[in-house]
Amino acid sequence: MIDLRSDTVTKPTPAMRRAMAEAEVGDDVYREDPTVNRLEDRAAAILGKEAALFLPTGTMGNTIGVKLHTEHGQEVICESRGHLLNYELSMVAWFSGCVLRTIYAEDGILRWDRIRREYRALGPHWAPTGLIEIENTHNMAGGTVYPLDVISEVCDGAHSLGLAVHMDGARLFNAAAYLGVPVSDVVAKADTVTFCLSKALGAPAGSLIAGSARHMDRARLYRKRLGGGMRQAGVLAAAGLIALERHPPLLAADHENARFLASGLAKIHGISIDASKVQTNIVIFSVEGTGFTAPDFSARLKERGVLMNSIDDRRLRLVTHYDVNRESCERALEMVRETAHRAATRGDCG
Ligand SMILES: *Cc1c(COP(=O)(O)O)cnc(C)c1O
Repeated sequence: MIDLRSDTVTKPTPAMRRAMAEAEVGDDVYREDPTVNRLEDRAAAILGKEAALFLPTGTMGNTIGVKLHTEHGQEVICESRGHLLNYELSMVAWFSGCVLRTIYAEDGILRWDRIRREYRALGPHWAPTGLIEIENTHNMAGGTVYPLDVISEVCDGAHSLGLAVHMDGARLFNAAAYLGVPVSDVVAKADTVTFCLSKALGAPAGSLIAGSARHMDRARLYRKRLGGGMRQAGVLAAAGLIALERHPPLLAADHENARFLASGLAKIHGISIDASKVQTNIVIFSVEGTGFTAPDFSARLKERGVLMNSIDDRRLRLVTHYDVNRESCERALEMVRETAHRAATRGDCG
């Protein structure tokens, strides 16, 4: 099987498994796990933040990020296809007691002029804005990257109104690789940032949240409340350290493979995609012109040994990662071509 459903499906490398087996561990709830401590210190240093905290998931990172900056009854502004709204089990409401105020942006990138219009100060009839959340890269907009000047403007604008900015950087390192800048430049003005080791960086599990030392002290409390106090978590942090230190340079190859797939897809009859818009490791394309629904197309691809998820009735999403090399991408493309061709010659596709 060529698995392009997500970059979460990567298996730990032999180096990771060795590091996990040999990891020095302690009780992290007592802050005595040296490997977790080292991972948190390295993550903070790489991001240019005072402190970082190791978490089981990115969802927990965003949940804590929202909690740190808001009080019950406020609004959090995010893009309408954001992970925060659509894939986090309404944790913004459940844990933080806030509602989401969404803004649609075609490319998933929220600009300050749009945010400013949705900002609500204290007033008699509405929930005041408590936080701005931005997703970088934006998953459902197709792995799009925030330009640095847009982040800067959003953060400056938010701060001028006394608001914080939380960045959902599940694929933060992909954004930095695309821009060709250190991750610390991408997150410099964000108050808190979450990123996943378990996505393109390839660790078996784990995410971090980073920000000021004061925020991370409170984040530790919320992590425990959410059931995230993990004891000898050094076995996971050891793999995470390898993901963090050694894998960012591998992302460029994933991005090249995504562009290769996108330009190949663009040439297949019945498939539509603007390949020039693919920036990182996520490719979203429509199979509407093949006569198949996206779930149907996905099922037929699976019969040919290729896994890609449908994201709605018309569109599929593929995500490249280090367990899929160029040769597998060529084969995946061939299977998409065959599937689309079969649809075209079926004669009954109406
Ligand atoms: C994967 C992802 C997360 C976090 O997901 P977990 O599965 O909880 O680690 C958050 N935001 C985005 C954009 C993601 O793609």
